[in-house]
Amino acid sequence: MAINKDYDVVVIGGGCAGIASAVAAAKNGAKTLLVEGGPFLGGDLISGLPIDGCMNARGEWIVDGGVVRELFDACDRRGGYIGPITDYRALWIVCIDPIAMQFAIVDTVAKYPIDVLLYSFADDVKMENGMIKSVSVVNKLGRTDYTAKIFIDCTGDGDIAIKAGAPFEQGGETPEDLQPVSIVYRMENVDTEKLLTFVKEHPENVSLGESPWIVEGSTQQELADLLYLQGQPKVFFTGDRPLLAKAIADGIVSNTSMLAITPNSTARRAVSINSTRISVDAIKTNKLSQAIVPLFSQVDQGVRFLKERVPGFEHANFAGVSPRIGIRETRRIMGEYVLTTEDVLEAKKRSDGIAKGGHEYDIHGKNKEHIRLQLKDGGSYDIPLGVLIPRNTQNLLMAGRNLSAVRGAHSTARVMGTCMAMGHAAGSAASMCTKEGILPREVDIDALRTLLLNQGAVLNGTH
Ligand SMILES: Cc1cc2nc3c(=O)[nH]c(=O)nc-3n(C[C@H](O)[C@H](O)[C@H](O)COP(=O)(O)OP(=O)(O)OC[C@H]3O[C@@H](n4cnc5c(N)ncnc54)[C@H](O)[C@@H]3O)c2cc1C
Repeated sequence: MAINKDYDVVVIGGGCAGIASAVAAAKNGAKTLLVEGGPFLGGDLISGLPIDGCMNARGEWIVDGGVVRELFDACDRRGGYIGPITDYRALWIVCIDPIAMQFAIVDTVAKYPIDVLLYSFADDVKMENGMIKSVSVVNKLGRTDYTAKIFIDCTGDGDIAIKAGAPFEQGGETPEDLQPVSIVYRMENVDTEKLLTFVKEHPENVSLGESPWIVEGSTQQELADLLYLQGQPKVFFTGDRPLLAKAIADGIVSNTSMLAITPNSTARRAVSINSTRISVDAIKTNKLSQAIVPLFSQVDQGVRFLKERVPGFEHANFAGVSPRIGIRETRRIMGEYVLTTEDVLEAKKRSDGIAKGGHEYDIHGKNKEHIRLQLKDGGSYDIPLGVLIPRNTQNLLMAGRNLSAVRGAHSTARVMGTCMAMGHAAGSAASMCTKEGILPREVDIDALRTLLLNQGAVLNGTH
């Protein structure tokens, strides 16, 4: 990469929202820089987690086309796309192989004229007349100021927005009241037939049919039978049901609301596990760093529990952890519009929507606490551009986990499908700004919607 310090668009943060923002901006003609603090692009896309939020509870695609489909297709070309499945609980998810996805991201980003800086942390902005003039990036080359017409904050924590003066909220009743951080781990050589037979014979251990649009009149047993017939190792053990509750009582597993198993590779008979949790304010890097010790210990416990107590895992092998501790919740940057709990639970539609969300209301608490609520009609809600425009800023957009929302709305919109839809919209809006010499608040929403629709985004016609 040649040393260039001036761009149309600088995207800060290379997780799923940042990737989508950068690809969308570059695809629409903007000279784009993507700055990532860590060694890889991808964030939780390469953790092994499934992609939530691409479909609503009825199984309708609500995030498709655009950048998401390019990534899925690239993953598929590398043999790593399992595709959409349901958990027969509340969700339709898209399962991918994180190893294939790691390459698919590079394949996709490399198709466009995007300069990428890895190992590069943005820690400040320079302001001029109320506008961000440059973002200051530190890496082994030293400190460099990158100028751009439009900046997009995809740091997950809103680092750039707060430096630029945007207000934020954090947590629930107190700023420390945050969803736990977790590390996702993987097991290979899992006997899916045996696991699903166990679930079919003991459905009392798993959560099924939380969404009426998935139940459709079926009994728990019928849902377990359907899960078996689907043939994918998608199993949601909860901490209040016999198998996991006993393991917690026996001290084999730390107190947790769930142990969720998701397929990630058919070839390797591999699954990802989401069960670990530590309550910590992830902005406090010292505390986050300390969390690795108990989290790794919980991984050890989870592996032991699976191998000793869950049929199908007897001959499975531990296959590693995600490349980083996963962060569910930190700052919510307040934007021109704040997504409300009513917007999401009522699955509100709007004529100015630029992205859709459809994941359940999903707040993980301490230990076994977990609030899960379903969206009206198993549908989706529309997200307006105001959710992506931080207050008190001129030339800044944002996408992803740091969106403008109240806590409950954030708990649904934080998932990867929704983050990528927001990124698609933010990057496209940024490119319109640079082409037309305008600011985010001046973007013609109908023109933006047309651009997104032409690139396959789903904005209309779903529940
Ligand atoms: C344990 C767990 C389970 C989850 N389960 C699911 C699931 O099953 N399905 C689902 O869809 N979603 C799930 N989620 C939610 C989802 O993964 C995240 O909310 C989503 O990935 C956030 O994407 P993002 O791009 O906004 O942020 P991130 O993925 O956090 O990306 C931010 C990126 O910015 C970089 N960065 C941060 N600050 C700076 C800076 N100052 N300078 C430069 N770079 C910076 C970071 O290194 C990171 O790569 C889960 C989350 C967790 C933690």
